[in-house]
Amino acid sequence: MTQHLNLPPTLVDSWQWQENAACREHDTEFFFFEDREQGEERSPNRNALAKAICSSCPVARACLEHALAVPESYGVWGGTTPKERARMLWTLAG
Ligand code: SF4
Repeated sequence: MTQHLNLPPTLVDSWQWQENAACREHDTEFFFFEDREQGEERSPNRNALAKAICSSCPVARACLEHALAVPESYGVWGGTTPKERARMLWTLAG
């Protein structure tokens, strides 16, 4: 018997959750900032807007799991900022 069960999921399967993402209907600038705006302190309103969209997103859990697994260093994913995800990863690393 072949070892195909140990292979990673296909690329399509890995990204399928994005088909149902609430952010697909919104401008990416809510979620990703210009280089000069990377400091979260400078963009509290946009973080709040992005988080509000994420709060009603049906795939927020998959999004956050992806962002932690990669890990994504920029933007709001799964209702979290890069700084919040860094704290989560630090805590998980124990
Ligand atoms: S949780 Fe937020 S960033 Fe992730 S897919 Fe949903 S709306 Fe987009």
